[in-house]
Amino acid sequence: GSTIGILGGGQLGRMTALAAANLGYRCHIFAPEAESPAALVSADWTRAAYDDHAALRALASKIDVATYEFENVPVACVAFLEQLAPVRPSTEPLRVAQHRAREKAFFEGIDVAVAPYAVAGNEAELIAAAKHVGLPAIAKTATEGYDGKGQARLEAGTDLPAVWAALGGRELIVEGVVDFIAEASVIVARGMDGVARCFPIGRNVHRGGILHTTTVPGGFDDKLLRQAEVIGRRAADAFGLVGVLCVELFIGRDGRVLANEMAPRPHNSGHWTQDGCVTSQFEQLVRAICGLPLGPVGLRARQVVMTNLIGDEAADWLRIAGAPDAKLHLYGKRQARPGRKMGHVNRLVT
Ligand code: ATP
Ligand code: MG
Ligand code: MG
Repeated sequence: GSTIGILGGGQLGRMTALAAANLGYRCHIFAPEAESPAALVSADWTRAAYDDHAALRALASKIDVATYEFENVPVACVAFLEQLAPVRPSTEPLRVAQHRAREKAFFEGIDVAVAPYAVAGNEAELIAAAKHVGLPAIAKTATEGYDGKGQARLEAGTDLPAVWAALGGRELIVEGVVDFIAEASVIVARGMDGVARCFPIGRNVHRGGILHTTTVPGGFDDKLLRQAEVIGRRAADAFGLVGVLCVELFIGRDGRVLANEMAPRPHNSGHWTQDGCVTSQFEQLVRAICGLPLGPVGLRARQVVMTNLIGDEAADWLRIAGAPDAKLHLYGKRQARPGRKMGHVNRLVT
């Protein structure tokens, strides 16, 4: 079998490594952290900084293909590795996804609608951006935000200089608040032959900026599902992506589908596929980057509901594990901190 290098050691890498093992592949995790959920289930592990070129060279000599599971692996690291070994997906979708302004421009470039937005590089520009976009709006750091971190809501009367300071005095984008009736995400896998396949599209519910549940089917009509699928496929094709890509969507009250953001990797809103789909998003990633045909994506239940276990919620796992329709997934993290994703449960409704 071949060996897959994975940049990043989080739960996405862990679940990718488990899927890879199931297909006879070995995984080599490359991550700077001392404790890595992915390393615990992998054949090999390098603990090194992302800019450690010697360690990256050594990694390249041991693997057949590399991928990334962490959104903020420095682009320079991926680009360096890409010169030494095949990296799938390539650097470009990661570079775009790491910066909200680039991401928005990318969507506009492929004719996918986004919320009204403006970029702000200083306090005065923040004030101008809020005026341009209109209130209410949301200011987001252009880079490094996740789980709703690095965001502030702007209303009439909000002290904008205080927001500028609170978000760290770094580049922001200001987005108009979308009046959405639902959130959804389209997850698409695309293989080396250019064939793309979308997973059934689920409805996402967030709590405090963090994904809480994904329900599939999400109760959307066919026209909307087709629109969502077109967006996913168009994004994957535009990158010539080999791997898995997720586009988070807002379903507007006016029926329009807007792209929120994207991730060129398996996504939390696709965790339901582990138990609810013939092929999981993790297996699909492994298949895509290893040149295998993509797997079938049919639903295995009438409905599947994925619920994240965040912080203390994972402490309840014994009770959850006993429910007849529930499949429990824990990431092996020792410390439960507030807001930290510890695991998830997939419920299959038959
Ligand atoms: P993730 O963990 O998904 O990467 P993130 O920190 O990058 O999250 P976003 O996806 O931009 O943040 O926002 C988190 C949630 O906040 C969204 O799923 C949505 O519920 C809400 N939200 C973000 N932007 C807007 C907007 N422009 N209008 C309305 N709601 C929004
Ligand atoms: Mg995000
Ligand atoms: Mg998001």
